[in-house]
Amino acid sequence: MSNSDEQTQRKDAKHKAAMEKQKSKVDANIEAADTERGVAVLITGNGKGKSSSAFGMVLRALGYGMKVGVVQFIKGEQLSGEEIYLRDKLPDIDFHQMGTGFTWDTQDRSGDIAAALATWEKARPMLEDPSYDLVVLDELTYMIAFDYLPEQDIIDAIANRPREQSVVVTGRGGGSALQAVMDTVSEVKEVKHAFRAGIKARRGVDY
Ligand code: ATP
Ligand code: MG
Repeated sequence: MSNSDEQTQRKDAKHKAAMEKQKSKVDANIEAADTERGVAVLITGNGKGKSSSAFGMVLRALGYGMKVGVVQFIKGEQLSGEEIYLRDKLPDIDFHQMGTGFTWDTQDRSGDIAAALATWEKARPMLEDPSYDLVVLDELTYMIAFDYLPEQDIIDAIANRPREQSVVVTGRGGGSALQAVMDTVSEVKEVKHAFRAGIKARRGVDY
């Protein structure tokens, strides 16, 4: 056997041992997780991928015929593919958007607060209704950060939602009080973004 064959065999054996170890860890974790209930997920951070992750979960839930509600707390100027798809192809899904544009465009604090409260009034009943399997609260963190909505009301509504219901919150800067009520918190880190290299936001990828 050549030296390189021996090296390959050694690497293969090492890989196999590492994978076996990994598998036993994963199996043990699966065994230990015996609580069956809905999960509260926060996707925060400065990198790209928060809302698209939430819509990935919408697709997953729909695959199982689950009932989904989506509330978007900031509406971009640009129509997004997910909005178009939900409106045109899935008209039965409860989909609400805050009527105003980005807050730095409107520059109207009291108007923004009224819009935020009206939008929260769409979201809150969903968090009380056990018929919803998944509720997405897209860009909700900004409403807390700008003090447009009372954080405690949001935390209470999430904490007291029906046991089987899952909820996904997205947006930058999800703070520690919100994080405490969530079961899964992921921070998407920006390593680089095409925009910084002058590449325009891309249809089907960015919106
Ligand atoms: P996505 O909707 O693509 O998952 P996101 O929800 O993580 O993005 P938002 O802050 O809600 O991010 O912004 C939405 C839009 O801004 C998308 O077009 C996205 O590509 C873009 N974007 C997200 N992060 C960055 C960034 N770090 N720099 C520039 N543009 C960004
Ligand atoms: Mg987003």
